[in-house]
Amino acid sequence: LKPKITIIGAGIVGLATGLKIKELNPFIDLQIIDKEPHVSAHQSGHNSGVIHSGLYYKTGSLKALNCTRGYDLLIKFCNQEGIPFDICGKIVVATTHEQVSMLDTLITRGRENGLKGIVRMTIDALKEVEPHVAGVEGIKVPQTGIVDYRMVANKMRLKLEKMDTRFCLGERVMSLVGSAAYSEITTSRNTYHSHLVINCGGLFSDKLAEMAGEKVDLKIIPFRGEYFTLKRSKEGLVNNLIYPVPDPSFPFLGVHFTRMIRGGIEAGPNAVLAYRREGYSKNDINLSELFETIMWPGFQKVAKKYWKTGLGELYRSYSKKGFTRALQQLIPEITMDDLARGGSGVRAQACDRHGGLIDDFVIRESKQMIHVLNAPSPAATSSLAIGETVAGLAMRHLE
Ligand SMILES: Cc1cc2nc3c(=O)[nH]c(=O)nc-3n(C[C@H](O)[C@H](O)[C@H](O)COP(=O)(O)OP(=O)(O)OC[C@H]3O[C@@H](n4cnc5c(N)ncnc54)[C@H](O)[C@@H]3O)c2cc1C
Repeated sequence: LKPKITIIGAGIVGLATGLKIKELNPFIDLQIIDKEPHVSAHQSGHNSGVIHSGLYYKTGSLKALNCTRGYDLLIKFCNQEGIPFDICGKIVVATTHEQVSMLDTLITRGRENGLKGIVRMTIDALKEVEPHVAGVEGIKVPQTGIVDYRMVANKMRLKLEKMDTRFCLGERVMSLVGSAAYSEITTSRNTYHSHLVINCGGLFSDKLAEMAGEKVDLKIIPFRGEYFTLKRSKEGLVNNLIYPVPDPSFPFLGVHFTRMIRGGIEAGPNAVLAYRREGYSKNDINLSELFETIMWPGFQKVAKKYWKTGLGELYRSYSKKGFTRALQQLIPEITMDDLARGGSGVRAQACDRHGGLIDDFVIRESKQMIHVLNAPSPAATSSLAIGETVAGLAMRHLE
């Protein structure tokens, strides 16, 4: 009897995990279930498309380790599969004197995480890279790149299908029951049995774990990120990637400019509470999901701690003028007319009971299940490394 593994979630983390399982043991009977009709329908298909270098993450954390390893694996995968990418580098700009010391912290972190060639730059040197930028000082990180993660996910799917992986798309997992020998997975269409279930459910990873009877003690808080696109006639204002210095107490990077590999320049994303886990617009509300978020003690503490930052983000969400003003700190020439409303994405950010927005990736194991409970940015960059880790755990489970 072949060992059977079911992965829930055909986002980039679930797909990468599938690939790594098949690489370790091609004879495993593998299926991937997703409630959507195609892969990468949520976070993996609604992100900034940046190949992160590992600059920001605490040395030794799962994020730092998996980002640098994932970076190498992703570039190898893109080269093998003929997926276009561009290692164009990025600059981080301090726009006030108070932010300058943070540049040192970033350089130290980057170097500790193995990055070479990060250089401190005067504003004049920055202008040679990005002529329209303003600020006090900055750094250049040569390793950062851009890719289309939807394309990466589609290639992963094709590769998995060639390796005899079954895709059960358009099937929502409704219940998960574990017993000593196998787990029973009931979807909106079928019932399956599997020796091991791997939960890569992104925005619903906590719900899927709870469904399986786990006491996870964290909640996924959905933070929407909204983008504007730079009008074609103004694309010359940005060459590659321009980032502000991030707020060290907040897990998001601040609105920035990103050249997209498929063309165009995006500005954003901001970070506002989504009123629904898959709430891509301001009017997208699910009262029971919103109520659950608000009632989570950890969220109430987050709201208390970050209310000022949160209000600023909310203001920038409703006011194009406010959003433009934030961007003008990096490029003063930008005007409201240069920006058109773009798409959005919703980040799955785990929050603990005590008000901590959990910074690191979280992977938990139970008897017949492995749960990837927190895989926010840079999890697209890190996906193949996270997949490698989870596949290793899966093999141990099957033994
Ligand atoms: C706005 C934004 C910008 C970002 N920018 C970057 C970036 O530039 N670089 C980077 O590295 N990372 C970035 N990220 C982070 C990155 O996109 C995510 O960390 C990554 O895509 C997570 O992948 P995932 O597979 O865990 O989740 P997802 O892609 O969300 O996949 C989870 C899947 O589970 C499925 N699912 C959930 N519940 C069920 C159920 N009950 N039954 C069946 N299926 C279910 C969903 O349909 C979904 O397809 C960004 C994220 C966002 C939102």
